[in-house]
Amino acid sequence: KKMGIALVGLGGYSTNQLAPALQETENCYLAGIVTGTPSKAEEWKAKYNIPDKNVYNYENFDQIKDNPDIDIIYVVLPNGMHAEYTIRAANAGKHVICEKPMATSVEDCQRMIDACNKNNVGLSIGYRLHWEPHNLRVMELGQQQVFGPVKKIETANSFVIGNPDVWRLDKQLAGGGPLMDMGIYCVQGAVYTMGEPPVAITAKFGEVTRPEVFDEVEQTIIWQMHFANGAVAECRSSYNESAGRLRGEAEKGWWELQPAYGYSGIDGKTSEGDMDYPQVNQQALQMDGQAQSFMQNEETRVPGEMGMRDVKILMAIYEAARTGNKVPLSW
Ligand code: NAD
Repeated sequence: KKMGIALVGLGGYSTNQLAPALQETENCYLAGIVTGTPSKAEEWKAKYNIPDKNVYNYENFDQIKDNPDIDIIYVVLPNGMHAEYTIRAANAGKHVICEKPMATSVEDCQRMIDACNKNNVGLSIGYRLHWEPHNLRVMELGQQQVFGPVKKIETANSFVIGNPDVWRLDKQLAGGGPLMDMGIYCVQGAVYTMGEPPVAITAKFGEVTRPEVFDEVEQTIIWQMHFANGAVAECRSSYNESAGRLRGEAEKGWWELQPAYGYSGIDGKTSEGDMDYPQVNQQALQMDGQAQSFMQNEETRVPGEMGMRDVKILMAIYEAARTGNKVPLSW
């Protein structure tokens, strides 16, 4: 039997990526929705054949506990709301997939993990690239030391933000700027290249050329992740430029993905030639993988602990940028 997923928050990502992907999944399907906008509920019900009894709003959301059609709740809300809805979903006895970044503080991540453990439900983060072949190859090249130990990583992930009136520029709802939204992919990329988290962070904020837009969150941030073996990852994320690349240099070879982190069109090469891997529906593979793990009561590839690890790194990057200090990290 397929597991039923309810999407919470029907914004851009749910509408354009997750709902279409759920038409291609084998282990799960779009069973329900949670939305504060009645007109969206009507549209989705018709388009995806969702029965009335599987449509919730933010007020009656907790009643979802009595609905056997819903096995998994997928939280696709602004970052600052992830903790509340993940905890409510866990308390309703449902498995949870939570979008990145997991939350806006390490304390919230811990509360989310605790709530899922207490209710005996799974918790997994929307880290789709753990099902993407080029990125999986990078994990192998780095972690298996195919070209010897990794010495250096260079990665950037950025886009030019359009409409300035969005939650992504609101400190409370976003938890920060491009670092929380896009830079998290660089953190992930560096860590999955190395196979372990960094032991220290240095960072600085970039120049602010649009102060009217970036009055709450950073416009650009540049940081270094220092690893135990001496390798350094040079990273950059901005809401005022475009980029998406992940390069690794090892003793006897190198590799580079560009674009590295998109939904499609991922491409790469190594010092030995072009990478030749298929394009996949990342979100469909991700949700199928997560549903299968939940079904078998196994930890997913991308558990809550991984989400919390990354939020701890993000917070250290902000601390380093704010203070100018090298911030150590212990694990
Ligand atoms: P969006 O702005 O398009 O959608 C946000 C949704 O939340 C909207 O439907 C909005 O109505 C709803 N919402 C409820 N309460 C709100 C409030 N108080 N303020 C603002 N909106 C509110 O955003 P999105 O791009 O869909 O992002 C949602 C989440 O998904 C974010 O955490 C983001 O980081 C994540 N995301 C992940 C990926 C990925 O590739 N994994 C891609 C895009 C977004």
